[in-house]
Amino acid sequence: MPTEGTAVRKPQTISANRRTVPNTEKPVQKTRLAVQIAFAALCIWIGVEFHFFVQYLESAGQVAAVTRPPGVEGFLPISSLMSLYYFILTGSVHAYHPAGLFILFAVILISLVFGKAFCSWLCPVGLLSEMLGDIGEKLFGRRLRLPRWLDYTLRSLKYLLLAFFVYSIFFLMNEVALRAFLDSPYNLVSDVKMYYFFADISRLALIIIGVLFLLSIFIRNFWCRFLCPYGALLGLCSLLSPQKIKRNPISCIDCGKCALACPSSIKVDKVRTVYSDECTTCLNCVDVCPVATTLELRSSFSKQRINKRWVAIGVVSLFLAVTGFGMFTGDWQNNVPAEVYVRHQDALHTYGHPTSTKEISALKAPAEKQEAPPEGHKSGSPENRTAR
Ligand code: SF4
Ligand code: SF4
Repeated sequence: MPTEGTAVRKPQTISANRRTVPNTEKPVQKTRLAVQIAFAALCIWIGVEFHFFVQYLESAGQVAAVTRPPGVEGFLPISSLMSLYYFILTGSVHAYHPAGLFILFAVILISLVFGKAFCSWLCPVGLLSEMLGDIGEKLFGRRLRLPRWLDYTLRSLKYLLLAFFVYSIFFLMNEVALRAFLDSPYNLVSDVKMYYFFADISRLALIIIGVLFLLSIFIRNFWCRFLCPYGALLGLCSLLSPQKIKRNPISCIDCGKCALACPSSIKVDKVRTVYSDECTTCLNCVDVCPVATTLELRSSFSKQRINKRWVAIGVVSLFLAVTGFGMFTGDWQNNVPAEVYVRHQDALHTYGHPTSTKEISALKAPAEKQEAPPEGHKSGSPENRTAR
């Protein structure tokens, strides 16, 4: 198996070219790690809160009521994608998982502005993948890389998964089918079902997760690079971002350090501008470049250089601004009474989702025959919820 190191030429030192000015700008990786840890801590906090909420449900409402943390909806990307389509069709935020929609808006906006920065600055799975990759590099003393043909083949898997979800939602579903799914008890309690998926994890799921952990030690970012459909979506959005890593070929001393440092195995030293769906704007390449103003994040519009700190500030600010807007407008919390969740608790295991494109298409059929909903009907409204 070839190593990352075999792909780049022998590194030169800056003294090889006396006209160059050393890069003395402070690296941003410690800041990035701090942001990643803070966001992971927030996710853990949400997980703990949700655990107590489920305990409350299991007690059938006997213990003191615990508020359900809306942030848990960030872990329901498929439901959020459906809510996005529902929003596009109706102009309304569906009532069950509104926070999930705002989180999806925030993440897409970050990708459109700063590229796939969510993956390397905020995503807790991204942080875990990096840690596993670091362990692998310490163990093997080098970064292992798959042959190019296999790397490309595996990278297409995440796009196939994304294509399946996009086709199933945006092509097979209409507004009626969307309502049928989004208003269903399954969608309402999908966060609770996700909790039990991990709390009562099956042996098979545990083996799969264990294998993914192992593979992430051997191949950096295995899950993110090859399998994550969320990352695939953000990678496509990132291509529209005007902010790109740009290399100045005149001052570049051809040392290859940028390519060596890139966790996405992008040959930064061979291009003037990084146009890649795999670039996560982690800025590792910019940090290691030994020559001042040679490798930078620049706006394609203004040609302006973007200070590395502004990526940190921008990513966090955009996330807080969009989710804060959801809170400000009162659309963040789903307002489903806790008693409704308690009522669904016993039947939880009987709720399921469509498992084939045929079943997804079938969502349209029975509902299409129904009469139009009465004036003023709001999908997922409390009346709907309590009627079940
Ligand atoms: S090109 Fe630079 S910013 Fe993009 S992933 Fe590679 S190291 Fe990170
Ligand atoms: S752009 Fe890459 S190859 Fe050129 S000097 Fe910087 S690190 Fe070295």
